[in-house]
Amino acid sequence: MTSVHSFWLAGRPAEGDSTFDVTSPWDGRPVGTVSVPTDAQVEEAVAAAYAMREEFAATPAHLRAAALDHVAKRLAERTEEMAQLISAENGKPIKWARSEVGRAVSVFRFASEEARRFNSGDAQRLDTDAGGRGRLALTRRFPKGVVLGITPFNFPLNQGAHKVAPAIAAGVPIILKPAPNTPLSGLVLGEVLAETDLPRGSWSILPVDNDRMPALVQDERLPVISFTGSERVGYAIMDSVPRKHCTLELGGNGAAVVLGDYASDEELDWAATRIATFSNYQGGQSCISVQRVIADAAIYDRLLPRIVAAVEAQVTGDPSDAATDVGPLVSEGAAVRVASWVDEAVASGATLHTGGTREGASYAPTVLTSVPTDTTLACEEVFGPVLTVTKVDGEAEAFAAVNDSKYGLHAGVFTRNLQVAFRAHRALEVGGVIIGDVPSYRADQMPYGGAKQSGVGREGLKSAMEDYTYERVLVLTDL
Ligand code: NAD
Repeated sequence: MTSVHSFWLAGRPAEGDSTFDVTSPWDGRPVGTVSVPTDAQVEEAVAAAYAMREEFAATPAHLRAAALDHVAKRLAERTEEMAQLISAENGKPIKWARSEVGRAVSVFRFASEEARRFNSGDAQRLDTDAGGRGRLALTRRFPKGVVLGITPFNFPLNQGAHKVAPAIAAGVPIILKPAPNTPLSGLVLGEVLAETDLPRGSWSILPVDNDRMPALVQDERLPVISFTGSERVGYAIMDSVPRKHCTLELGGNGAAVVLGDYASDEELDWAATRIATFSNYQGGQSCISVQRVIADAAIYDRLLPRIVAAVEAQVTGDPSDAATDVGPLVSEGAAVRVASWVDEAVASGATLHTGGTREGASYAPTVLTSVPTDTTLACEEVFGPVLTVTKVDGEAEAFAAVNDSKYGLHAGVFTRNLQVAFRAHRALEVGGVIIGDVPSYRADQMPYGGAKQSGVGREGLKSAMEDYTYERVLVLTDL
């Protein structure tokens, strides 16, 4: 018997007239039962958020900052409980679940800092031109309107934090829609938000079923959609509301380049360890997971065995065990799909160095080389613990290989050469270039988002606050 989790309607717990169950992808045990809002309750939440726009924008920054500080403090206090919940509903190894809670705490702290300095405004004299004599322009930012935040399963708490925290920091009401397979962490975040003095209509957390989402997406009272999830759903949303402001944080097939100057034993050990860890981190179910290693011929033969050994050293198994590095994927169906892509690559001539096996929802950490460029594995986002290693000749070929993808989220470049770093920054068609580490590096306060089909717009606290608001100029005349 599991408890029924209420959802959050205009800052208050509420229950609808139906429920769905959440089970562990590891052992199928029940983790929780979620109450689903009725259409009338969704309408009530939207109306409350819409009515709250001006009042929330006018709430003093110090009060919103204090609320954000409170959320950070309470999440930190509840770290272990939150981590256990994330691990249970998502299958994420407990050590990574703890790290996710730590990140969410930081996100709320960064948001509180940004709330204090955001929108101080900018003044510009206009008499630099004859027509502007006696005039001064003041620029401040105002909310575009209520935000609809939609999150994926893979970081059930931190993705919610990245939608909600900047909204509170900018004084913008938000309706958060968590992923159906991992809604519980988002709902527990609501318990902490409810302890604050935030105006009640300013936030709701609604586990609306996917088939009722198009109506919410179309609602004209929600002009901003901040979506994180798959390319398929993200673009379908944007295409359905071309006049809305959509931020899309979508997929990737992150590349780690190792160049010929990164050649000492210590450097190659570091690169191999980071690559192995972050191709398997959360079973590879991170949008900036390492999927492709692009290695210079000068170091390839020394790097590949290190990568294979480091991947084989990853501890697989029960996500509740503190020693586990790699747990199950989110569902057996996900593991079946990953297996089919690996099998297709091997049938097309790829060489399997380790892994390639499936047991239920778990897929073994896998390394392949000689993967033909036209296979699904080479072209799409695998979202599983699978790594391909490709040999290239020099920097130009390496950068061309990174760019030979429809995606462009992050790329990592292992080099010691500052000139190469600048060239990588110019050449790589991605949202972030990480020198000396894997593409999976993300600091939650920095701008984050994709190029090409990895998305539109940026998150990161300040970027998201700018995304939720627009500049409005006030011209003062003194003639
Ligand atoms: P998904 O696209 O299946 O679902 C994402 C969210 O969209 C869920 O909340 C889902 O319920 C909702 N949704 C589904 N149909 C909808 C509809 N018709 N209208 C509105 N909402 C709808 O993604 P997922 O499987 O949960 O997550 C995996 C994907 O997320 C991967 O592609 C991954 O790369 C991506 N992701 C991207 C980032 C990033 O920041 N770029 C971060 C994490 C995950």
